[in-house]
Amino acid sequence: MALLVQKYGGTSMGSVERIEHVASKVKAAVDRGHQIVVVVSAMSGETDRLIKLAKGINPRPPSRELDQMIATGEQVTISLLAMALEKIGVPARSYTGAQVAIRTDKAYNKARIQQIETERLLADCKAGIVPVVAGFQGIDDDGNITTLGRGGSDTTGVALAAALKADECQIYTDVDGVYTTDPRVEPKARRLDRITFEEMLELASLGSKVLQIRSVEFAGKYKVPLRVLSTFVEGPGTLITLDEKPSEGTMEEPLISGIAFSRDEAQLTVAGVPDRPGIAAAILGPIGDANIEVDMIVQNVGADGTTDFTFTVSRGEYERATDVAKKVVEELNAKGVRTALDICKVSLVGVGMRSHAGIAAKMFKTLASEGINIRMISTSEIKISVVVEDKYLELAVRALHKAFDLAAPST
Ligand code: ADP
Ligand code: ASP
Ligand code: MG
Repeated sequence: MALLVQKYGGTSMGSVERIEHVASKVKAAVDRGHQIVVVVSAMSGETDRLIKLAKGINPRPPSRELDQMIATGEQVTISLLAMALEKIGVPARSYTGAQVAIRTDKAYNKARIQQIETERLLADCKAGIVPVVAGFQGIDDDGNITTLGRGGSDTTGVALAAALKADECQIYTDVDGVYTTDPRVEPKARRLDRITFEEMLELASLGSKVLQIRSVEFAGKYKVPLRVLSTFVEGPGTLITLDEKPSEGTMEEPLISGIAFSRDEAQLTVAGVPDRPGIAAAILGPIGDANIEVDMIVQNVGADGTTDFTFTVSRGEYERATDVAKKVVEELNAKGVRTALDICKVSLVGVGMRSHAGIAAKMFKTLASEGINIRMISTSEIKISVVVEDKYLELAVRALHKAFDLAAPST
């Protein structure tokens, strides 16, 4: 008998039929003798719908009120699933984040879980009742409802598994595991049997939305065995492992495990800034003070005593970042701010990269042979990212997938 936390995502909870299917999967696990705690997302599209409603009233809704409202999507699905379980003879009880007491900080819209009360859930498990917990939400010390950021139900699942010391956290979704890249973009992508936490962390942070990044951080920190599986097809899924070895562990170790991409990018160039010490700090200081996260940075070689300074931020922060950059232009007596939204970031990830030179050169050659111009580059030990025009996203991902031989051997 094992204690398992099973998290079901939005597509898995997308209709009455699908919720009944989820109930049957939970029942099957209970019948095999396991203790199950379920975490669910809202029905697919529901959180988007609620956010749109709020923005219809106020384009920048007060964050407390937004959380209060968008948390309702999960309140619907917990009770529907509990009803579906009861209907097939599995005693179940639904809980909101507040009812469990999933305590978070006060950062509305991107709150962090600080503590989870497990007593009630463990008592249910002992009594043969399946607790069904709302993902994505918590409560702060003053009783306000908070949410954990988009995709946050993954994090609820992993955090609960850590608090309950569960044997495994199973993330059930609409793909049967973690693939070499998003199978929606490259149908030849291959499912990985295993991937290291380190690689999964990079993939998630570079845009692969199969797992919310915080859920991977949590799993790594508390050593929660984590598996991604399909709600709709049987299979082993993908295990996220603590091994240091490259994924797969085959005799010929792959250099690259996966390709991530993100369209959530905006580029700002502060043009004609004086080429002297302290300029980077003068530009990025105020950006940081405005609580805007900067991703890639390039400072060009100066000419005529001036230079261009380019950086990227997420698209949601683009307007605020531009306002700040315009002020900096005035202060530095620079030429102006150029912005670009038609960009995306494509990244290669793999721990095997550490020991191999030449990956970057191969990546750049592959993109060049497709006529794709690289605007920015950044590297770390286990990843290389490039910024390219967003109309080339699919082409870049597929070309790199082929060049690094990531497809299934049979394709
Ligand atoms: P859920 O609603 O179950 O949380 P998500 O839509 O958040 O599901 O995440 C699953 C989706 O992640 C898949 O449908 C797939 O398009 C996307 N995805 C992106 N990168 C990958 C990858 N490397 N492997 C698998 N799926 C990926
Ligand atoms: N319903 C939330 C969202 O759409 C949380 C989740 O699905 O994980 O982002
Ligand atoms: Mg998700």
